[in-house]
Amino acid sequence: MEQLGTFEDDFARVARWIAGYLEQPERFAVLPAVRPGEIAARLPDAPPEEPEPFEAIMRDFEQTIVPGITHWNHPRFFAYFATSSVPAAIAAEALAATLDVKVMLWRTSPAAAELESVVMRWLGGLLGVPDGWTGIIYDTASIAGFTALAAAREALDLAIREDGMTGRDLPRLRIYATEHTHSHIEKAAIALGIGQRNVVKVPCDSAYRMDVGALERALAQDIADGMRPLAVVATVGTTSTTSIDPVAWIADVCERHGVWLHVDAAYAGVAAMLPEHRALMDGVERARSLVVNPHKWLFIPMDCSVLFLRDEATVRRAFSLVPEYLTTTDGDVRNYMDYGLQLGRRFRALKLWFTLRHLGVGAIRERLRAHIALAQTFAGWLDAQAAWDVLAPHPLSVVCFRYHPRGIDDEVALEAINARLLERVNATGEMFISHTKIDGRYALRLAIGNARTTSADVEAAWAILRRVAVQEQG
Ligand code: PLP
Repeated sequence: MEQLGTFEDDFARVARWIAGYLEQPERFAVLPAVRPGEIAARLPDAPPEEPEPFEAIMRDFEQTIVPGITHWNHPRFFAYFATSSVPAAIAAEALAATLDVKVMLWRTSPAAAELESVVMRWLGGLLGVPDGWTGIIYDTASIAGFTALAAAREALDLAIREDGMTGRDLPRLRIYATEHTHSHIEKAAIALGIGQRNVVKVPCDSAYRMDVGALERALAQDIADGMRPLAVVATVGTTSTTSIDPVAWIADVCERHGVWLHVDAAYAGVAAMLPEHRALMDGVERARSLVVNPHKWLFIPMDCSVLFLRDEATVRRAFSLVPEYLTTTDGDVRNYMDYGLQLGRRFRALKLWFTLRHLGVGAIRERLRAHIALAQTFAGWLDAQAAWDVLAPHPLSVVCFRYHPRGIDDEVALEAINARLLERVNATGEMFISHTKIDGRYALRLAIGNARTTSADVEAAWAILRRVAVQEQG
């Protein structure tokens, strides 16, 4: 097997590469100019029989892989939800890979299990999550959300865990969301046997927030029709526009009907660290579960999504299943395998611990605040120009907008112009934005969330957009 003797040199080589990369990720095109299949075609069909020198592998990494990478660390990555990883978290990932523990039973790594509990209390405290809630780390919000809904299903007391959902009489189970709720909720409904059609899309108000009156009516009607509400999903920071559902009012409705309230704050939750945005958490204390993604806007590399639970026993009830070979005599400890589908779990708390300590909460708050301010400035530039529309309220660090040249008001034509604009802007390799549809209108979307993004980057993005728009007209 591999000689440890060369490891220090190899790792030093990797560390130098990482440092150089993070110093200037913008030296690469943010979106690579490659065609589908091009990278795979450059790679051999089979692995080598004999060992290859580390340097040869690094050379291929630099020459073949990196040119085909979409650079999420590029400060002008403004697509989807912009993210980035900071050096402390990267170093922690290397340590976690080295220890390679599986955080499943307390005894399979006591320090990893206990650090997860401690860091979750830190994070919960920063976000204003009520004392006594439990935070558990999952890979993604999709899995954390699925886990919460599985717990909600179990809480219905229909013996689904034991007897399943087929071959017997069960009421139709319903989940209430909106058209702006992230698609993982529908996927969870599919996987949990609820069915996609039983995810009720409650109408929204003019600011893309769940209409609470409509929710109340939908629930009452379904109950009258013999259906069984399983959960309401409120979103704090929806994916398209970052609209914020009125959680406290939704909680009133859920309490009246005894329905599980799940809050998806995957992107926006971390902004509750800012005193001026604490209100993002209003009403969350009355929910049963909450998801926040440190891998979105807390500068933690994939993957790290946190599910906070008012009563952790609900998830254990859904998932705990202990075969003989995993029983222990450790007593009153938290065995993380009891909280989801997964048995072996990565040591994800380590990168959160390193990052919170090495950046310090003050610097994190400053960056979040700066991102929000940059987005507001960008929206101000759009507002000041007649040929650009802002298409939705922008409470945080995402702006939805479009180019709207004078005299063109046909939606199909505007969609074509903006879709072309998007392609051309992204083809520059200098910036990367994505799109969505809002009320059927095609919208460009600029998301600020990368730790390295500065005002110069947003100014450059605005200049590129205007330049390409002029070319589009020409
Ligand atoms: N929830 C919201 C509001 C999102 O915006 C996203 C992704 O952008 C998700 C959930 C899914 O996140 P993940 O990729 O962690 O599953």
